Amino acid sequence: MTNLGKYNDKRHFDDTPEPKGKSGSKNQFRFVVQRHDASHLHYDFRLELDGVLKSWAVPKGPSMNPEDKRLAVAVEDHPVDYIDFSGTIPKGNYGAGEVEVWDHGRFFPVNEELEKITEKQALDALKKGELKIFLKGEKLEGGFVLVKFKKEGDNWLLIKHKDEYAFNKKYDIEKHRKS
Ligand code: MN
Repeated sequence: MTNLGKYNDKRHFDDTPEPKGKSGSKNQFRFVVQRHDASHLHYDFRLELDGVLKSWAVPKGPSMNPEDKRLAVAVEDHPVDYIDFSGTIPKGNYGAGEVEVWDHGRFFPVNEELEKITEKQALDALKKGELKIFLKGEKLEGGFVLVKFKKEGDNWLLIKHKDEYAFNKKYDIEKHRKS
């Protein structure tokens, strides 16, 4: 069983339009990036695994440029229903501000040789602090790695692999917003 207790504890569901936390069933390996204009603008990167959305807050947002090592702070698991959440979290609530879906699609976890691995292997990789994934979104595409930079704490880096999808120039995430 996964733990959505933290997610639920932080929220008052009579006052926020966000979905109540319950675990999902069969994993569909979806991902979402939500632009979250809260007290600090950031992007939330979420991977569907183990009946929840494993989640990281990425202050600068993901980048398609392999030169960018983007800080990704692990946050509480979110319910799978959060995957298409967009809207306003009212003032006074946790994360108050505007949420919009910036990108979404599917992913698959991969090994060193970029071959697909199972969900269980992906969870083990996460536990060890390094998970490689292949994303098929509308904006994010190709290989990425999430790597924890210390044993302790919640700080990870999200880095684009050098592959045929990579941008080898400055990647300004705010210029890639849907209009
Ligand atoms: Mn957020």
